[in-house]
Amino acid sequence: MIQHITIVGVGLIGGSFALALREAGHTAEIVGVGRNPQTLARAVERGIIDSWHTSIAEAVSKTDLVLLATPVGALDAVFKAMAPALGNDAIVTDAGSVKQSVINSARQWLPRLENFVPAHPIAGTEHSGVEAGFSTLFRDKRLILTPINETSPQASSVVENLWQATGAVVEHMDPAHHDAVFAATSHMPHMLAFSLVETLYRMDKESPLLHHTGGGFADYTRIASSDPVMWRDVCLNNRDALLQALEKFTAGLDTLVQAIDEKDADTLEQLFTTAKETRDSRVVPADRIKAGQQK
Ligand code: NAP
Repeated sequence: MIQHITIVGVGLIGGSFALALREAGHTAEIVGVGRNPQTLARAVERGIIDSWHTSIAEAVSKTDLVLLATPVGALDAVFKAMAPALGNDAIVTDAGSVKQSVINSARQWLPRLENFVPAHPIAGTEHSGVEAGFSTLFRDKRLILTPINETSPQASSVVENLWQATGAVVEHMDPAHHDAVFAATSHMPHMLAFSLVETLYRMDKESPLLHHTGGGFADYTRIASSDPVMWRDVCLNNRDALLQALEKFTAGLDTLVQAIDEKDADTLEQLFTTAKETRDSRVVPADRIKAGQQK
């Protein structure tokens, strides 16, 4: 029975997890941990958490389950700080967008790896912080569990049940495969959006143009409003897989540039047709990710 949950990092993901569990009728006491007493007090006010600590060790000493939902770059220090205070049966899980580096830190610091269940919710928005969380964020969205060899089936099933209670559809993946897949499908698109907006910012300084952008540009670049610290940490912690994906993208962009330069109509039309057909037939809209509804 999970009666006491600690959430380290009460932002978009940590806050939404708590709100979704409460909405599902879960009665666990939920304790928040962060660096800023004001935002933690605000989380109590919003009904996200019952109480809070700025000391991780104090917060986890009597907990049944810890969800780590800080930016990935903070997790090594978080594991180190909480490890000596964890009870023997305490389950530890995380929501980090990168899995192998988080698992490496867990291996270094956690005393009982059988209780560690790495996870990644495939849900988010461009907003962050205590005001960003909402109870339906995970509903019908995928949640990837990347258990390690040591993870016990019991711990894995406790974490799986909690995420299912939030409305998420749980899948399992190997951690290295996870990092390669999400480097291409999530991390790279964020890089392209950030880079595109930053490029237009530079062009705008030479000659104003940003005020002419329309709905398509706003749609395409929504994710460039995401938290810079979170994405800095994703780059630093999934460097190799992200660079491999970006290398393939650069090759594709080179082909496109060359076709434009050479007025190669056939290549342009073929490339755009492949992209359109792929998106139309293979890219699953977020609201169709429910089990059984995927294309
Ligand atoms: P967020 O809204 O910025 O929340 C992160 C929280 O962590 C903040 O409330 C912050 O609170 C706390 N925090 C930051 N640094 C900390 C530190 N050094 N020690 C303790 N607490 C710290 O971020 P998020 O979007 O929820 O992301 C959380 C995790 O989920 C990240 O690992 C991210 O990779 C992953 N994730 C994000 C998304 C997404 O779309 N956003 C999707 C899937 C997974 P204080 O300032 O009060 O410390």
